Amino acid sequence: KIEPKINKNAVSALLAPTGGVVGPWEMTIALMENAVDNGVKLDLNTELLDIEKIEGGYKVSTNKRDYETRCVINASGVYADKIHGMVAEESFKITPRRGQYFVLDKTQGELVNHVIFQCPTKLGKGVLVTPTVHGNILVGPDAEDLSDRKNLATTAERLEFVKEHAVKSIEELNFREGIRNFAGLRAQPSTNDFIVEEVKEAKGFIDVAGIKSPGLSSAPAIALDVVEIAKRILGDVKLNKEFKPNRKKHYEFITETAKKKAELIAEDKRYGNMICRCENITEGEIVDSIHRNVGATTVDGVKKRCRPGMGRCQGGFCGPKIQEILARELGKSLEEIVLDKADSYILTGETKK
Ligand SMILES: Cc1cc2nc3c(=O)[nH]c(=O)nc-3n(C[C@H](O)[C@H](O)[C@H](O)COP(=O)(O)OP(=O)(O)OC[C@H]3O[C@@H](n4cnc5c(N)ncnc54)[C@H](O)[C@@H]3O)c2cc1C
Repeated sequence: KIEPKINKNAVSALLAPTGGVVGPWEMTIALMENAVDNGVKLDLNTELLDIEKIEGGYKVSTNKRDYETRCVINASGVYADKIHGMVAEESFKITPRRGQYFVLDKTQGELVNHVIFQCPTKLGKGVLVTPTVHGNILVGPDAEDLSDRKNLATTAERLEFVKEHAVKSIEELNFREGIRNFAGLRAQPSTNDFIVEEVKEAKGFIDVAGIKSPGLSSAPAIALDVVEIAKRILGDVKLNKEFKPNRKKHYEFITETAKKKAELIAEDKRYGNMICRCENITEGEIVDSIHRNVGATTVDGVKKRCRPGMGRCQGGFCGPKIQEILARELGKSLEEIVLDKADSYILTGETKK
């Protein structure tokens, strides 16, 4: 009754009432904004190149500047073994384990009410069919060990595998309603378990490595362990009595009451200008996402903060408008606005004057 669309061949199921769904970008960005509100300094687009042991700690060299610190936390995903290797002998290896997904349009959103797992395999928790917090359906992932730590390509063959397995859970899935495919790399450790510890031969260096799935769900608990290890290393840390638990409010215009919508528009008329027609995102929300304390500087940065481009047209209509708003708000030229990282240029120059 709670999952009426489940495949009729399913015989029995276990219900985990505490299971839940989060928006991974929203969660990570909210935590990052809160950390910065509480004094964390964030250096983005900064690549770690080397770590050297020095008196009382480490010298961390990056492509931008050097840092000296008493404590290093190695939370570098599929590169964690390489970075561990800068200060100690190899004690584990990370294999990038790729997983591919379909995102289905909101027309499919009613098909499931919970995260539907199948029986796990040796390679992980198997292909899921799950609702997202915004009303889409997510189908995947598969699990494929690679050697390339940058390979985020999707492939027809593996997506076919995902489809074949997913219909065993929900036969009615309509893949013609797919709006996006993507792949991610899990950091599969040779130890087959999370590694959260101070490295024995490198005092003050904490590995938070091999954080494979479900690393996102486990992150708050892992953080508590890391805090205890860091406290032991640093010795003299004090509780921040000024800690601010809440970040600046983020308004999702379309879900606000009519009264609140009117107030927002009265305060800033850009909340009355609808930019993304699929997800109903206003110019006011986009401008806010750019000027928050860890504001968006790229088209995907805006998308991950307030969702223009996440809908059925995937930014086909609103993409150029987002570029214009970013350029205007950041005082840049249109050609300088990138998709997601340095050099991911969208426009190269004018063709007509
Ligand atoms: C297909 C797939 C499905 C998943 N499903 C789930 C799920 O259902 N539930 C769940 O809880 N979790 C899930 N996960 C796992 C979750 O995404 C990870 O556990 C989590 O992202 C790991 O976080 P992390 O911070 O350890 O690593 P990452 O998120 O990989 O972050 C590491 C960061 O380090 C940076 N970095 C690396 N090297 C350098 C360097 N030299 N200089 C500067 N920066 C560097 C990287 O750029 C990256 O930003 C899934 C993952 C995948 C791929």
